Amino acid sequence: MNLDSQPGHIDQIKQTNAGVVYRLIDLYGPISRIELSKRAQLAPASITKIVREMLEAHLVQETEFQEPGSRGRPAIGLILDTVAWHYLAIRLHHGEMTMTLRDLSSRSLVEEILPLPEETQQPLLASLVNEVDAFFIRHQQKLERLTAIAITLPGLINAASGVVHRLPGYAVQDMPLGEVLAARTGLPVFIQHDISAWTLAESLFGASHGAQDVIQIVIDETVGAGVISGGQLLHKRGRALVEIGHTQIDPYGKQCYCGNHGCLETVASTGSLLALVTQRLASQLDSTLHQQPLTLESLCSAAIAGDRLACDAIASVGHHIGRMLAMMVNIFNPQQILIGSPLNQAAEVLFPAVSSTIHQQALPAYSAEINLATTEFREPGTLGAAALIKDALYSGYLLVKLLQG
Ligand SMILES: [Zn+2]
Repeated sequence: MNLDSQPGHIDQIKQTNAGVVYRLIDLYGPISRIELSKRAQLAPASITKIVREMLEAHLVQETEFQEPGSRGRPAIGLILDTVAWHYLAIRLHHGEMTMTLRDLSSRSLVEEILPLPEETQQPLLASLVNEVDAFFIRHQQKLERLTAIAITLPGLINAASGVVHRLPGYAVQDMPLGEVLAARTGLPVFIQHDISAWTLAESLFGASHGAQDVIQIVIDETVGAGVISGGQLLHKRGRALVEIGHTQIDPYGKQCYCGNHGCLETVASTGSLLALVTQRLASQLDSTLHQQPLTLESLCSAAIAGDRLACDAIASVGHHIGRMLAMMVNIFNPQQILIGSPLNQAAEVLFPAVSSTIHQQALPAYSAEINLATTEFREPGTLGAAALIKDALYSGYLLVKLLQG
């Protein structure tokens, strides 16, 4: 290989190695330098150098510990030093802006939930920047060194350029949110789609921790998915998404707002589910749903209590989702499938429908061992943004910036 033609090559190795060492200390600390060298498959001298830099930057610290199987003097081990650096995690969701100041252990130090600014006074971008400024000023007593800002949001975004192309409910077009916030604060800014970031959060802190191949489906006002393949989030950088909501399920179905007919979202989103139940209630006079206002909560409770209409409607969502999942199972062969949804309140009705459809329609060899479960976080809040930061530390990308001071 001609290294001259790849000026970034050595830097890339340094970054990757730093990320690997940081991740191993996070997973196995307290861990000795010798053990670290074995697990990272790096020479002891390299470990010594990387660890020295991390100690100086207050990213790791030494601690005495008893090595497993040893009865002698305590050894010197390494653990993360997580309190000296803070970051801001932001989520734009359902008309709200949640801002959480966290330290590098992902612990929340301060959290505020504000209504998302309206566009009537000034453009959304200016309002968002002002809210971030005001947050830092309000909490300046608490701030340690700031490392980064991470933002998750729905809509159409480009994670590589930080541009928000579209945001539901706003007239936003190609808003350069990442670039403007980075210029204003001098901090690296990470932006990711809400469902992709939630998928990453479950794999780092939640229900799919440690799994290498995961499909996560979110059934809410929209229907979306995130995929982890070979330990990596699919479409991590760039503009692409695992776009399942607008896959045609019924060619003769209702027209969707995207222009097509019978998209998955027209039969499996929570809005379309409630519309279907309202329609069927007119002809099913014995349903217990007549006795109360129709909400997702009352629908799920009725299903658990055995109401036929409620059960059928939720099972029908499960069959549609299962059909989509069967195709995805044949492509990705996951160990684990997670479902995040308010309909998980009726998991005992929803999950058997999803599971039976997958088993009928996917390759038996692929579907036999799949573990279908609920997401650990019912609402991820700003944990999706926290996952972006942890991922950027593990990859070494953010770590190298912190080491350079
Ligand atoms: Zn559509």
